[in-house]
Amino acid sequence: LPLEQFHEATRTVTIEGDDAHHLIRVMRADIGDKIICSNGVDREVLARISVLDKGHATAEIVEELTMDAEAAVQVWIAQSLPKGDKMELIIQKGTEIGAARFLPFLSERTIVQYDAKKEAKRTERWQKIAKEAAEQAHRNRVPHVDSVYSWKQLLQRAKEADVAWICYEKEDGQQLKPAIQEAHATGKLGPGKQVLIAVGPEGGFTEQEIKQAEEAGFTSVSLGARILRTETAAMVGLTCLFYETGE
Ligand code: SAM
Repeated sequence: LPLEQFHEATRTVTIEGDDAHHLIRVMRADIGDKIICSNGVDREVLARISVLDKGHATAEIVEELTMDAEAAVQVWIAQSLPKGDKMELIIQKGTEIGAARFLPFLSERTIVQYDAKKEAKRTERWQKIAKEAAEQAHRNRVPHVDSVYSWKQLLQRAKEADVAWICYEKEDGQQLKPAIQEAHATGKLGPGKQVLIAVGPEGGFTEQEIKQAEEAGFTSVSLGARILRTETAAMVGLTCLFYETGE
């Protein structure tokens, strides 16, 4: 919920719009029910519903919650736009697992037709999916879904991360696990660090893209001997990373 919906003077929270619809129509909430309200950044409260109106609810703050479900390492999932609604799945599952940010991008073998006119609406929809998944996972923060990057823009953006891995199914040297361990040992991976994991489209990355990525500071990594679908790769990378960091 936006900060302005937390009212300090009255110790209440107001719930409006889609959130109110979800609460009243979908969850069928009642007066007296307790709910958790989060500002998506750094505050979560337990609140008791005191007013239920058409399209609007008020809840009285009962308790400040201090639970922290966020991973100490910030993982950014850079995903070459997949076909159909796979990006939705990637955002939903990636948010549940703990990704901090999603960076959709276009690469040479991106199959999906990119329509810049529909971009704002689509990003808005993806952001909404991230919000709903964060709520369901009881996360404190909603991951940000960036606008679609060009390949060049992505290479540039990746320089802001402490570590950048590009998942390449033809990589026969570097496996993800030793790459994680090395990043740990060299201080690039740990609380507050940013890790970017890039995944290619259905047709994969070209050799030239891998070369360009390596020149831009990425390490090419394998996720194992089996070829994963594009929507599976990011989840595997994310899960392996959190397994290794203990999160
Ligand atoms: N044709 C399938 C599809 O339609 O989804 C497989 C696509 S695979 C080429 C898509 C991306 O997943 C690759 O560009 C790579 O980033 C990642 N990937 C899949 N399997 C991988 C593996 N074993 N190691 C590293 N990356 C992998």
